[in-house]
Amino acid sequence: MSGPRRCIATTDRGRAASIRARLDPYQGGRFHIRETDPRTTEGNRDVKITIAGAGIAGLAAARALALDGHGVRACEKSPEISEVGAGIQVSPNGYAVVKALGLADALDAVSIRAERVRLIDGPTGREVVGLDLRRRGGDAGWRFVHRARLIDLLKDGAEAAGVALETGAEIAPPPAGAALEGDDLLLGADGLKSRLRARVDEASKPFFTGQVAWRALLPDAGAAPEVEVHMGPGRHLVSYPLQGGLRNIVAVEERQGWAEEGWSHRDHPANLRGAFTGFSPRVKGWLDRIEDVHLWGLFRHRVADRWWSGHQALIGDAAHPTLPFLAQGANMALEDAWVLARALREGLLAEGLGRYQAERKARVTRVVDAATANARNYHLSSPLVRGVAHAGLRLIGMAAPDRLLGRFDWLYGHDVTRG
Ligand SMILES: Cc1cc2nc3c(=O)[nH]c(=O)nc-3n(C[C@H](O)[C@H](O)[C@H](O)COP(=O)(O)OP(=O)(O)OC[C@H]3O[C@@H](n4cnc5c(N)ncnc54)[C@H](O)[C@@H]3O)c2cc1C
Repeated sequence: MSGPRRCIATTDRGRAASIRARLDPYQGGRFHIRETDPRTTEGNRDVKITIAGAGIAGLAAARALALDGHGVRACEKSPEISEVGAGIQVSPNGYAVVKALGLADALDAVSIRAERVRLIDGPTGREVVGLDLRRRGGDAGWRFVHRARLIDLLKDGAEAAGVALETGAEIAPPPAGAALEGDDLLLGADGLKSRLRARVDEASKPFFTGQVAWRALLPDAGAAPEVEVHMGPGRHLVSYPLQGGLRNIVAVEERQGWAEEGWSHRDHPANLRGAFTGFSPRVKGWLDRIEDVHLWGLFRHRVADRWWSGHQALIGDAAHPTLPFLAQGANMALEDAWVLARALREGLLAEGLGRYQAERKARVTRVVDAATANARNYHLSSPLVRGVAHAGLRLIGMAAPDRLLGRFDWLYGHDVTRG
């Protein structure tokens, strides 16, 4: 990498002004539009990349790209790289990437190996079906981890690979197609509210999905390594243990609107308890012990049509925010990171970015659609429909338990690092 490059864009008068006038109402920012397209063939992998956003997508991509020899800096607008206390489920497809990035031991050290998924009828507390995650023997790579620990290990991994990390550094998106000055690529890992997305894809606004999610942690030492999904009319609650004697709670409720200023805020635990009064004593027991809870409006926009344009590309939630009902947002971000790095190993930058989009878009679209469908399955309102659906699941669970998890082999069994 040549000389220190600053993440925060500053005005580049002259050329920038004329491009601004031509292309975009962009306000300030040092950028350029390259006429040349760097080759990324063997021996010349030194593509200079700035990543906007140091969440899971940005940090994973930073490590993957730096390991390949590119000059990478990651810029995070927050004053520090931190996470609201909450858990995340890493599934085998995401774990494969963590492993390929050389971080599996670090993840194992801070996570719990998940063994079972239990779907439970929320009001009665009766198990509908239990799925053994070890059904094929061995360790497929299911983990429960605190988000802050996952972020920490990706951050350490990025820095160890030579990534320059800057915090308090907000990237003002340059005009469509342009990288920042001195760079070949600007990667938008700036999440659901991505500003770079409007440059790469047509401007589309995130929409409220009619669901909100509370997230909370409570002390619960010695819990079984299982994820429990308690399903009820118009709502469901997911819970699993985390290291440090903690239990993670994600509780989702259907709502008409989201009028709050921000996208998430602290809520009173009584509101969460009130929403799940009809649920079993086990759930109520957990909720009674919650002292601190955050509430999210669940927003989404469609999977981007274009994932790259000129010297800009999108990754993670910036390209494809998804509902959390298959626990795949972070896992997809990990997959993106690996596929992007591999795609940039050969040929022109544009060819690599084209391969990246081609490999990711259809898969991610399928995942997003499946997560949306899961919301409907979890929230069945009619007692009759719910009874029939649960009886069906129970039957399959007893007769052919493999069939239930096997329906998702295309998702969890897919290893992008083998491609
Ligand atoms: C309730 C809930 C539960 C979930 N559970 C799971 C789960 O169990 N498993 C799973 O795989 N996924 C889960 N997800 C989804 C997952 O959290 C997200 O998909 C994932 O975190 C997206 O990562 P990201 O890096 O793309 O975006 P983000 O995590 O949003 O990171 C974007 C980063 O960019 C920064 N930024 C924004 N703009 C700029 C800018 N202009 N310049 C510099 N920095 C900028 C932001 O500050 C932020 O740090 C869940 C989501 C929710 C809401």
